[in-house]
Amino acid sequence: MQRLVLASNNTGKLREFTALLAPLGFDIVTQGDLGIPEAEEPYATFVENALTKARHASRLSGMAALADDSGICVDALDGAPGVYSARYAQTVGKPKSDAANNAHLISQLAGKLNRHAHYYCVLVMVRHPDDPRPIIAEGVWAGEVVDAPRGNGGFGYDPHFLLPQLGRTAAELSADEKNTISHRALALQGLVARLQTFGAKGCI
Ligand code: IMP
Repeated sequence: MQRLVLASNNTGKLREFTALLAPLGFDIVTQGDLGIPEAEEPYATFVENALTKARHASRLSGMAALADDSGICVDALDGAPGVYSARYAQTVGKPKSDAANNAHLISQLAGKLNRHAHYYCVLVMVRHPDDPRPIIAEGVWAGEVVDAPRGNGGFGYDPHFLLPQLGRTAAELSADEKNTISHRALALQGLVARLQTFGAKGCI
């Protein structure tokens, strides 16, 4: 088993990543378990933030590291909230909460007809802090932002994220359903495929 540090302390993510990566020979620990503080996320793109988090965790642990970054990008807002998804309301001096973020998003979309949006997730794995070829996998999950929230599942923007083909919001999906079609699930599937390809060539 190769030990891999996860640059996150989210137990849900740890469970998902462990389930998919254990069969490939990875034993995952969180950076919190190793006493590693969270890295700053100062960049304007998801991939730069994820790469920074992965390098930080790898440098301080001496191990290979995996980081993710995700958020919602809304077409009519030029991709906002984007990397600011977790703290969107704070950008206008409001509290950091899902409810405040959702209220701010809906207010920004008032009067706009184009409601297309997508969730985006990027995963970055580095073998060591100065790895010249990080393994990068992306997932995109398209939907539409609706004014009226629906559903009690999920988190974040899910009650306002409608999947037109399903006629349900992401908060109306079961956890299992969401975990097979979400941006994070797609990125993880991509990462696993990349690792299998590299592994088969003997150059993970
Ligand atoms: P993080 O990358 O896990 O820190 O997520 C960043 C932020 O993006 C979250 O705090 C949410 O606001 C938003 N976000 C990312 N993924 C999801 C999701 O699956 N549902 C709802 N909101 C999400």
